[in-house]
Amino acid sequence: MPRIVLATHNPHKVEEFQALVAGVRDDLEVVGYDGPEPVEDGVTFAANALIKARAAAAHTGLTALADDSGICVDVLGGAPGVFSAYWAGHAKDAVANRELLLDQLADVADPHRTAQFVSVIALVRPDGSEATVEGRWPGRLAAAASGAGGFGYDPVFIPDAQEPGAERTVGEWSAAEKNAQSHRARAFAALLPLLRTL
Ligand code: IMP
Repeated sequence: MPRIVLATHNPHKVEEFQALVAGVRDDLEVVGYDGPEPVEDGVTFAANALIKARAAAAHTGLTALADDSGICVDVLGGAPGVFSAYWAGHAKDAVANRELLLDQLADVADPHRTAQFVSVIALVRPDGSEATVEGRWPGRLAAAASGAGGFGYDPVFIPDAQEPGAERTVGEWSAAEKNAQSHRARAFAALLPLLRTL
């Protein structure tokens, strides 16, 4: 059975990807990566996803996948972007990160609070060929955090295309609702044609 390695030490991400891949290719085995972690010093999601996928492909000799993601706020010129995980400092404190972001937008009125969650997945083959795909989930920042679901910026992100008057942050969505629509789901959908070629 052909194997691909997912360049993450996070077992939840491996499980999530295994389930997604099984839905389209039951002859592909997805394994986790336990080799050395490279320094993610890229300044774009694609650069960081490629850094991780190249390291895993080189270490294992397998086709490797890696993802990188974050939130991009229009009025901040796309920040926090690749700095999303440690926007308020290297402690990687999700509550401090989103509180800082809300504070920075305190004087920005609702129509100008537009933002997107972005996910880039990189695929690197042992022969050195590379590809990246991207998923974007547009929305805007809430005035205050609400909801206890999800992680990171979920409690402050209101996705577009919700019923007017009944809009909720992703923190108030179920995991199933989020997984059907998220930036990662969109990136994975864009990856499918590439997976079929493996
Ligand atoms: P990573 O790609 O898993 O390293 O995620 C980078 C950072 O982006 C996370 O630490 C979060 O702050 C943010 N982020 C990425 N995806 C999501 C999401 O689905 N919900 C909330 N925050 C996210």
